[in-house]
Amino acid sequence: MKKTSSSAESKALELLRAAGLEHDAEGLSAKGFHAVLHASQGFHVVPWHGVTNGMCSCRKSSCASPGKHPQLREWQTAATTDIGQIVDWWLEWPDANIAAVAGPSEVLVVDIDDRNGGWDSWDAVLNNLGVAEPTTLTTATGGGGAHFIFRYEQSSSAKKRQAVRPGIDLLAGASAFLLPGSDHWSGKRYAWDEGRAPSEVALEKPPEWVLELLTDTDATSKVTGTTGKIMEGSRNSTLFAYARSLHEAGCRGDRLGAAARAMNSKLCDPPLAESEVLSIVRSVTTREVGSIGRPPLVLVSRKELGKLPAPAPLVDDVLFEHSLSMMWGDSNVGKTFLALDLAASVAAGLPWLGHSTTQGSVLYVLAEGQGSFNARVSAWEHLNETKLGSDISFLTTAVQLHEAASVNELLTLVQGNRRRSS
Ligand SMILES: [Zn+2]
Repeated sequence: MKKTSSSAESKALELLRAAGLEHDAEGLSAKGFHAVLHASQGFHVVPWHGVTNGMCSCRKSSCASPGKHPQLREWQTAATTDIGQIVDWWLEWPDANIAAVAGPSEVLVVDIDDRNGGWDSWDAVLNNLGVAEPTTLTTATGGGGAHFIFRYEQSSSAKKRQAVRPGIDLLAGASAFLLPGSDHWSGKRYAWDEGRAPSEVALEKPPEWVLELLTDTDATSKVTGTTGKIMEGSRNSTLFAYARSLHEAGCRGDRLGAAARAMNSKLCDPPLAESEVLSIVRSVTTREVGSIGRPPLVLVSRKELGKLPAPAPLVDDVLFEHSLSMMWGDSNVGKTFLALDLAASVAAGLPWLGHSTTQGSVLYVLAEGQGSFNARVSAWEHLNETKLGSDISFLTTAVQLHEAASVNELLTLVQGNRRRSS
């Protein structure tokens, strides 16, 4: 911490010198240097009350949020990147905490509050969506939580969203948040999270799923909320979240389907088609099966071993369900043609080299040679006098199958594709 603050100080001094303010800034506090530095990174800062030994600088013993309220009544419009103004403020209030206003700073902040179960909610969001924690600029807050900060040009026109999940707020527009160098009433100090300081990472754009949190609410709050009805545009995601939370609570099979249908007919305005509800329920259930990770460990006795079902063939004697097969050979011997022939035969339900196949949907990952692949597929269709339809899809980018995030991305894509075609 000491190291960070002294390097912050020297960097801030450089900025002040460059602005010709080094003399005006004499006696500037550590918090003042932090404020100058934050402003140089584009944060529109404004002084907040400080807190020393648990006592708020507003000196009210009854202060409801020590170190967490503004010094200035017009803080929303006063927030600035003007170093001269910032120096004046922190010379007047050396211990003032450093707040930034989201809108003018053009940022969106995911605020995780540890005390209200924010981390549990955050883990649930990441797990449910199969996404990795963003690697953007991140503050470890004094209260054990975090601020994930994203570059968001539309922040000014967005609004703060409280409790999008228990313990998670989204800060945008006219809402403020404390920056590193600020003190928390507990005595801890706000600091850049390890490896997530401005010198180490970029201010990233929010991923799509973070933006969705801005507009989407948790199923539970929507169902019990005051609006009562689930309107067009949010029916699918709400029903999906509702079905998922029921599934997580152990609701399965017909009961899950019935609950989703009941919610659809009672609350969705207008209700979704029956088939859409079915596919939502299906995607909730397959999500569980399809979510990657280690399968549960199961012990099987010698006797039970004989009762295990034989693997179902996709291509008789050659390729089986739920199994991994590998084809290898020297280069230029025709592996790609052989693999395409096999894949296309399964998709079309044609026998492959005399072996019968079980017709099904095929995903062909084209990690190389995309350019000439259409010619290969056309040649296959011509030779077999068969047009390939929607039962085969081609992925034209490589996938790292040993990376959880990539596999999850692939699963989401496949499930989405299946939903569209069903
Ligand atoms: Zn106070």
